[in-house]
Amino acid sequence: MNIWVFSQEANGAPTSATLELLTKARSLAASGTVSAFVAGEAAGIAAMLGEYGATKVYATGDLGGRLPGVAASAAMKAVIAGGDSPDLIMFPQSYEGRDVMSRLSVQLDRTVLTNNVDAAIDGSSVSVTTPIFGGNVLVTTAFSGSGPFLAAFRPKSFVAESGGGGAATVVAAPVPELGATGAARVTVVHTEESSGPKLDEAAIVVSGGRGLGEASKYELIETLAKLLKGAPGASRAIVDAGWVPYSYQVGQTGKVVKPGVYIACGISGATQHMVGMKGSKSIIAINKDKEAPIFGIADLGIVGDVHKVLPKLIEALQGRG
Ligand SMILES: Cc1cc2nc3c(=O)[nH]c(=O)nc-3n(C[C@H](O)[C@H](O)[C@H](O)COP(=O)(O)OP(=O)(O)OC[C@H]3O[C@@H](n4cnc5c(N)ncnc54)[C@H](O)[C@@H]3O)c2cc1C
Repeated sequence: MNIWVFSQEANGAPTSATLELLTKARSLAASGTVSAFVAGEAAGIAAMLGEYGATKVYATGDLGGRLPGVAASAAMKAVIAGGDSPDLIMFPQSYEGRDVMSRLSVQLDRTVLTNNVDAAIDGSSVSVTTPIFGGNVLVTTAFSGSGPFLAAFRPKSFVAESGGGGAATVVAAPVPELGATGAARVTVVHTEESSGPKLDEAAIVVSGGRGLGEASKYELIETLAKLLKGAPGASRAIVDAGWVPYSYQVGQTGKVVKPGVYIACGISGATQHMVGMKGSKSIIAINKDKEAPIFGIADLGIVGDVHKVLPKLIEALQGRG
């Protein structure tokens, strides 16, 4: 089985989602090959992509401001039309991953399966697993027909592990003439400022919900997260209320996190929130309602008022110096 992984980069390194997919691709490919496809320059990341399992890296080179979805899908199609066709292409379930995948689906006339959390190969048959109904039911779907099969996977579906491989060979995959579809240009990229670890990579996540009462109280969450060298997160209720940006949201329509410790403060534990954090190693919940569903999955439950518990916790941690 020959597998490609659509690779994304952040701060000069492949994203964690890319490394997770490469690790999985390595185990799926067996005696086949694993390649990465980069929309941009690959020189700075080829070594790491190789370490995680890619033996070949296709790179478009500088996109010159063109939309990655348009340019990368056209470049992928050109490589495939040239005869170098994979059986399966794995995409991260990210904005860019979905954009490239959906355009490629149209260009190749192939189905896509999105939102997956696992994949399996049996002979030449490829199947993926997708959670539905808030993660309560898992559906396994096998691709039919011929590849390349296109599938997108949620972050944290697999654990990234280096395979100890050498640097991958970089192969140019130039963007062909795009005609009118190539006219759009990216003029500004806005990166939200953040300090401390990223929400989906932090070892400790402290999340706040509507139980905080008002936006200004979110400061308690930020302070506690900082003291624990963790990342602050949020329920959708307070994102929708405009207390914090969407990038803080944990859950079905937000980020999936699997930290060592997840501290839920004033969060009821709706299914849509829990699917985004129930894979955490240890869950601590602080809620004044002892019947709150979040206690059903908590390893440690504190029945109490966040306005009393959090300041005490912060004080105790600050006291430790
Ligand atoms: C399609 C869809 C997708 C969704 N996606 C997401 C998602 O990605 N993420 C997400 O989080 N939600 C999501 N939701 C929303 C979800 O259903 C809930 O509405 C939301 O998670 C509730 O947020 P909350 O727990 O902060 O608020 P509430 O449900 O209002 O809970 C507040 C909790 O705080 C407790 N509390 C109140 N005061 C205090 C106090 N002083 N001290 C301690 N505890 C206190 C209360 O007992 C209560 O349990 C989605 C919903 C839908 C329909």
